[in-house]
Amino acid sequence: MKDRPAREILRAGIADGALPARRLLDASSGNTAVAYAMLGAAARIDVTVCVPANASRERRDLLRMYGAELIETDPLEGSDGAIRRARELAAAEPHRYWYADQYSHPANPRAHYLTTGPEIWRDTKGAVTHLVAGVGTSGTLMGAGRFLKQMRRDVRLVAVEPDSPFHGLEGLKHMRTAMVPAIYDRSAIDETVLVGTEEAEWWVTHLAREHGLFVGWSTGAALVAAGRLLSRDTRDQPEPRIVVVIAPDGGTRYLSEARRLFGE
Ligand SMILES: *Cc1c(COP(=O)(O)O)cnc(C)c1O
Repeated sequence: MKDRPAREILRAGIADGALPARRLLDASSGNTAVAYAMLGAAARIDVTVCVPANASRERRDLLRMYGAELIETDPLEGSDGAIRRARELAAAEPHRYWYADQYSHPANPRAHYLTTGPEIWRDTKGAVTHLVAGVGTSGTLMGAGRFLKQMRRDVRLVAVEPDSPFHGLEGLKHMRTAMVPAIYDRSAIDETVLVGTEEAEWWVTHLAREHGLFVGWSTGAALVAAGRLLSRDTRDQPEPRIVVVIAPDGGTRYLSEARRLFGE
C-alpha cells in the first residue's frame, strides 16, 4: 500500500528539483520507509529514514537490504518520536535533506485518489457502500475516500484507530494522543472505530489458519471494525452493504514478532 504514496511523493520531489540533488528524508513506522528505500534505489535517490527502534526486524532488515540510511528512534515515543527526529535533521541540514513529510504532503492522499479509489470503484462496479481503513498518515482514507464520495455521495468512510496510545498495531495512530497529520481531515470521516490489539490478533490468526491469508496486524484491526459494522442494525442504512476493507501489508513483515503466538 505504501508504495503508492512513496512513488507520488518521489515524483513531486523530482518535479520541484529537490531530488536527486538532496537526500530524501522522512519518518515512518516502517512501510513507507521500505517503499522509499526500494524506489529510491531504482531511481538513484539517496534515502534517510527515521524509524522507531521497535519497528519489526523484517522492516529494518529490508531497509538495510535496499541500502537506505536507517536512524532508529526511541521506541517509547513511537512514530511521533521518529517525526521529531526527522524535523530536527531537516532543520539542522536543509541543504543535505529534502524532508518529504508523508504526514503533510498532498501527494500522499493524491496517490490514493488516483489509484486506490478508482480501483475500489471499478472492482465493486460502483456498489461500494463503506470504506474501512486504519489511519496512520490517513492518506488512504482521505484520498480514496474523497474519490469515492465524488462518485457516490452516500459512501461511508470508517476510520480505524487503536483503543489506546500503547498498542501493537503498527502503522496506526491513536489520534487523540498522537501528533495529528496535516492531511487528516476529521470532518471527512463518517465514523471512527477503536480496536484493541488482541481483537486484531484474533483476526490475523483466523485469516491465516482458515483462509490461507496472512495479513498484517492493522488489517486485523480493520476487520474487527468491519465485523462490528456488519453485525449492526441496518434500518438506517442502504442494503446491501458492500464493505471494502484495506489490507495495507502482509503478515510476513511481522513474522519475527508472530513467534510470540507460538509461545516462542
Ligand atoms: C500506513 C499504514 C496504515 C495506515 O495507512 P495511512 O494511509 O497512512 O492512513 C495502516 N497499516 C499499515 C501496516 C501501514 O503501513
